[in-house]
Amino acid sequence: MERLVTVFAPRNRMDFALKAMLLIAAIGGLNYARELVLHGQRADTLGVILRDAAIVGTPFVVVVLLVVRHLDRLQRQLANLAATDLLTGLPNRRGFLEAVAQGGRIDRDGLLLLLDVDHFKRVNDTYGHAVGDICLQAVARHLRSLSRVGDGIGRFGGEEFVMFLPGAGPERLDELSRLLTKGVEVRAGATAEAGVQITMSAGAVLARAGTVADAALNRADAALYRAKEEGRARLVLTPDAA
Ligand code: GH3
Ligand code: MG
Ligand code: MG
Repeated sequence: MERLVTVFAPRNRMDFALKAMLLIAAIGGLNYARELVLHGQRADTLGVILRDAAIVGTPFVVVVLLVVRHLDRLQRQLANLAATDLLTGLPNRRGFLEAVAQGGRIDRDGLLLLLDVDHFKRVNDTYGHAVGDICLQAVARHLRSLSRVGDGIGRFGGEEFVMFLPGAGPERLDELSRLLTKGVEVRAGATAEAGVQITMSAGAVLARAGTVADAALNRADAALYRAKEEGRARLVLTPDAA
């Protein structure tokens, strides 16, 4: 049904008019076939039948097309909502994977990074959940600012983020490491005076096209675990490609 709605939804005025004419022609055609079956030679001409179909059918066809267009918009909004993290506006896990993986496999070579805010519980405990939320939004802005066209960013939930940099290799790691781990300063609510410095740890893996996304993410997660173990505010690259 979703597909039917997508196909029939008018895209613009011209499309609306074309689809309306198509539906009216279909109604007229069916009526013509019915006349032929019922009355044989006494059937009205096709022209007369189409005219009648246009007179009687136009209001209904217009209403149907308006409803289908509305359903199509709702469908798109729902799909968008289901793929978006509402706090940061970034793609969520589903949206991120839809963007970088086809059928669960990463579609290009590139760098996959899993990032986790350091000691975030402390921020919440010290300044409150609302400030924590503002910090997460600041982290999302920070990640957006250091990404390039074509890079994928997402929030996987909690204080965990993900990035995929298609075509990137180890040469981008130094710069990324510096930008990711130097921290984001947030001034809001109780932190307004002094500000709070948020750092991140990251695990990175060089992913090959065709790698199962979950497998690459597990490897990035293992590298992230090491980054935490080694003292946080750092980026660790797994030695082998995934
Ligand atoms: P680590 O450096 O080991 O990652 O420590 P951490 O404190 O960041 O990690 P931990 O997993 O102990 O705590 C994560 C915290 O993130 C706990 C949870 O309350 C908080 N959190 C998760 N989602 C949200 C959110 O949407 N908003 C806010 N404000 N806090 C969140
Ligand atoms: Mg954390
Ligand atoms: Mg975490």
